[in-house]
Amino acid sequence: MTDEQGLVVVAIDGPAGSGKSTVAQRLAAASGLEYLDTGAMYRAVTFVALAKGIDPEDEESLAQIATNMTLSMEPGGAIVVDGVDATTQIRGPEVSRAVSAVASVAEVRTELVSRQREWARRRGGGVLEGRDIGSVVFPEAKLKVYLTASPEVRASRRAREVTDLDYDTVASDLARRDALDSNRTNDPLVRADGAQVLDTSDLSVDEVVDELLTLLNSDSSNEQR
Ligand code: C5P
Repeated sequence: MTDEQGLVVVAIDGPAGSGKSTVAQRLAAASGLEYLDTGAMYRAVTFVALAKGIDPEDEESLAQIATNMTLSMEPGGAIVVDGVDATTQIRGPEVSRAVSAVASVAEVRTELVSRQREWARRRGGGVLEGRDIGSVVFPEAKLKVYLTASPEVRASRRAREVTDLDYDTVASDLARRDALDSNRTNDPLVRADGAQVLDTSDLSVDEVVDELLTLLNSDSSNEQR
């Protein structure tokens, strides 16, 4: 893809709780690249849709939200959507339960993928994490990684992050979301061709980041064409 020429992109994909966010942020800091949480973008669309009482089946309205929303993702992690600070709400259970339906809408994806490519183009690249970064957004990324972990480890990690839900609820929400993300027609979660697969179940964050830094700095990562 000619629009990717010269970009240094690290694509990190994987299911919820696989460690993507922590690892991607640490890798970005260590490599001097900027970091983009693309899941937060799908969550932002979902947040606006819920606030406006829009049916998650109403694809046309969802596409309009994705196209028209002003989204500011601040380096400290704050997410401001249409002037409203939604940092906390986008991680809440209502958004988490509805986001996969919203993310399955083709027009929503087209708009957000275009914003993601533009974000990276303006910065000369970046570390992007999501579900389709190595398969769709930047298939020719310099380094493509698929992080995974056992369902139990992933659910335990998520359960530690939330205070108001018990382990069983978190585990079943996560399993449902993974199934929707993996089985949808539009840009499902897959191991992208050429992605390095890392199971983080028994690895520390430092071990994962060190491994990825080695890959990024070695010739074994995919050369940008
Ligand atoms: O990464 P996070 O768990 O915050 O993502 C929330 C949801 O957004 C995912 O469950 C998925 O439905 C959607 N998503 C996506 N494509 C991406 C990133 C996230 O479909 N690149």
